[in-house]
Amino acid sequence: MIRIVISGAFGKMGQLALEHIQKRDDFEVVALVDHKGRAHPFLSTYFTVDEALRKESAHVLVDFTTPEVVYENIIAAIRHGTRPVVGTTGLSISEVETLQALAAEKKIGGVIAPNFALGAILMMRFSEIAARYYSHAEIIEGHRLTKRDKPSGTAAYTDQLMKTSSPIQTEIHSVRLPGLVAHQAVVFGGEGEILTIRHDALSRESFMPGLLLAIEQVMERDELIYGLEKLLDLSL
Ligand code: NAP
Repeated sequence: MIRIVISGAFGKMGQLALEHIQKRDDFEVVALVDHKGRAHPFLSTYFTVDEALRKESAHVLVDFTTPEVVYENIIAAIRHGTRPVVGTTGLSISEVETLQALAAEKKIGGVIAPNFALGAILMMRFSEIAARYYSHAEIIEGHRLTKRDKPSGTAAYTDQLMKTSSPIQTEIHSVRLPGLVAHQAVVFGGEGEILTIRHDALSRESFMPGLLLAIEQVMERDELIYGLEKLLDLSL
């Protein structure tokens, strides 16, 4: 049985994660973290991750909070020996590297996934391959009006992946509109042709298979993994 604490538990992703995790016989939610201390009918709620992990024994911390607090939440989890599985976006590459070093020092596994949608992972992988054959590309990402970070973690990460395999020139455009969920097109321009690789998450349900996979797999890992693709076989 994998014992799990969810932070950001009363947010949109936190609520959906709770619902899906509770359907699994091999997962158990042992507590919730909410900065406003909202009550749950059956589960204890704590104000901070540190407080929750001091009082509850948990294998995994699932975090869907905000860019302002996620870094400290991951540090608290690692210090308590709890594996972080993080969907919150907005961490910088240098913050991720610092967290990876801390996890290595404490010999604890974890997953930080800017995007848990399996289709989005494939979109990033295809874009990484296409980048080898084009000199210019534009990334156009769209999210709901209230999304705090800009550009999205997925767009920044796609950009980073494309540049590891190519000296390609890129630009990221962010669209924030009511009605959008999570969308990204990577448009490559070549001699007399345009290639567009596109992914649309139509509901938050699209993130759940990847989240559940990460919770399962993190138990077998002893490093802090950045990117869900590292848990999948994407070789050609
Ligand atoms: P949301 O509904 O706004 O939920 C965020 C939660 O964090 C809320 O419960 C919010 O509480 C809480 N929160 C706000 N400020 C806080 C603080 N200072 N300390 C602690 N908790 C705080 O947002 P969401 O749609 O669930 O998204 C959450 C995160 O997941 C975002 O970073 C988003 O980009 C990311 N995300 C990732 C994926 C992925 O696949 N990796 C998919 C979707 C979303 P209040 O609302 O009461 O302030």
